[in-house]
Amino acid sequence: MNEFELIRDYFARQPVRRADVVVGIGDDAAVLDPPAGCQLVVSTDMLVSGVHFPEGTAPAAVGYKALAVNLSDLAAMGASPAWFTLNLSLPSADSGWLEGFCAGLFGLAGPFGLQLVGGDTTRGPLTVGIQIAGFVPRGQALLRSGAQPGDSIYVTGWLGDAALGLMCLRQELRLPEAEWDRVLQRLERPVPRVHEGEMLRGLASACIDISDGLVADLGHVLEASGAGASIELAALPLSPVYQAVRDQVGWNPAVARGDDYELCFTLPAQRQSVLEAQAARFGCGLRRIGVIEAQPGLRLVEPSGSVYRPDRQGYDHFRGV
Ligand code: ADP
Ligand code: MG
Repeated sequence: MNEFELIRDYFARQPVRRADVVVGIGDDAAVLDPPAGCQLVVSTDMLVSGVHFPEGTAPAAVGYKALAVNLSDLAAMGASPAWFTLNLSLPSADSGWLEGFCAGLFGLAGPFGLQLVGGDTTRGPLTVGIQIAGFVPRGQALLRSGAQPGDSIYVTGWLGDAALGLMCLRQELRLPEAEWDRVLQRLERPVPRVHEGEMLRGLASACIDISDGLVADLGHVLEASGAGASIELAALPLSPVYQAVRDQVGWNPAVARGDDYELCFTLPAQRQSVLEAQAARFGCGLRRIGVIEAQPGLRLVEPSGSVYRPDRQGYDHFRGV
């Protein structure tokens, strides 16, 4: 299989055909029609084998997660995803691997109505780079910088299960098989909160997706907004699996580890009733965990009232380099 056959057989044939794609895969570049009155929202994320996923990870999990982390970035902006491009570096043109990869990738793209419109393919160490684009009505993107003292802090879903999944893989934690499967699923197949992000347009004052852990990512919101915050640890949304091992693992997996891909957002008090009226539409769940304060810094408050210090602030690729 040569490069052109690979592109034709695996990437040019795909389930989603959008009317706003004038020219997709096959020319020197794509030609796209953004809707009038909207702003383009563009993001990119790269997954490197051995860094972002263990070598030997199932190809479907790689394809799924490469797109999921990009979708999560658009979700955090409140954007509606439309198109993506794929830069793929592969050690060999292994058809079994490519089939699995495409199943994971297009299995997630389809339900979100996302079309692959181009990319680049080279031989090299396994690396997957995706760039994604979507829209927001002009001026409605959810930024990190809008949080104000008095705003409530919310998160979607459950925190920390992906970290428990990684601990299981590293044999730092033992769980019964059904629970092991559930946390591994959360690590390998996070559900990007795209519809939740769209619902937060016009409601949230700031928003971010939790990729590096609550402390690190909420920290970015606080820095961009020039504010501080207090979080009630007892209010953190923990899954039944997490609750069962909380005495053993503590708070760290929920606050200082990455890969949850939930949204963390802030909400002005006067919009609280609007959000609560819509809460049932957030199928993943919604939890108020704290409040934005004028005093700088992030305070994690234990049920006893004392302040908890996590053992690290999230993942930094260049720490100590
Ligand atoms: P060029 O040499 O002009 O960059 P390529 O041979 O790299 O052309 O790509 C040919 C076409 O295939 C282009 O439309 C490109 O966007 C598309 N393409 C290449 N690799 C991928 C990929 N991994 N996923 C999707 N489209 C791809
Ligand atoms: Mg090229």
